[in-house]
Amino acid sequence: MPELPEVETTVRGLTPHLTGQRLVRVSTLRPDLRRPFPVDLAQRLTGSIVTGLSRRAKYGIIATDRGDHMIFHLGMSGSWRIGNGEPGKHDHLLIDTTAGQRLMLHDPRRFGSVDLVAGDPLTNFPAFVTLGPEPLSDAFDVSYLARVLAGRRAPIKAMLLDQTVVAGLGNIYVCEALNMARIAPTRAAGDVSRAKLAALVPAIKAVLEASIAAGGSTLRDYKQPDGELGYFAKDWRVYGREGEGCECGGRIARIVQSGRSTFSCPKCQR
Ligand SMILES: [Zn+2]
Repeated sequence: MPELPEVETTVRGLTPHLTGQRLVRVSTLRPDLRRPFPVDLAQRLTGSIVTGLSRRAKYGIIATDRGDHMIFHLGMSGSWRIGNGEPGKHDHLLIDTTAGQRLMLHDPRRFGSVDLVAGDPLTNFPAFVTLGPEPLSDAFDVSYLARVLAGRRAPIKAMLLDQTVVAGLGNIYVCEALNMARIAPTRAAGDVSRAKLAALVPAIKAVLEASIAAGGSTLRDYKQPDGELGYFAKDWRVYGREGEGCECGGRIARIVQSGRSTFSCPKCQR
């Protein structure tokens, strides 16, 4: 499932293929993904020039010189393919550029979405309005985290997955960061010490940055046409490693919190 690092890698991978390009043709091959494509998507994007790409949480944003922003979410299985060939069964949106390239949004399970927003998407796209700060931004620091978690009785893991607290963090990255910072995922968020929060903030940034760096190297292997802007397997510290050893010598355990698997080390995470 594409997480923040995969979306960041995707945006960086698409940028040189789209920025400055006029979109000669934009077409959808079915009416919807998780929800319908905007009915005027092709009309508003065709002929426009891409002025830049960015990311907010797990959304990629393609800005055009008409002030429109195409906002994509990769859902469970989405990815972009770059090439110049015919679309396959699971390619649902095609973008042809003046450079003669074709970008195809590939999404077998179709949990992704595409929206079109005029003007500033940070204020005009409803899904963005309530989001917390980006975890890799300077706004996400110890003071901020201590302030929003103060007095909260919910488990620290649940609070970090709350998109209004911090944007775009997924299950894997929260498990990994809590292990790095030696915090029990079940601990009440308001009871995590300032010293532990001071370890947690850089742990979150480090685990995301390591994955972005790994994705970047994966991407370089896929330079050829028809290459997929792919995802990458990682050697996780705790995620998916129930019963294996933690670096402290403890044994990694799996519990279920809010219906999702949590992996942690009961020995060093307190
Ligand atoms: Zn441990």
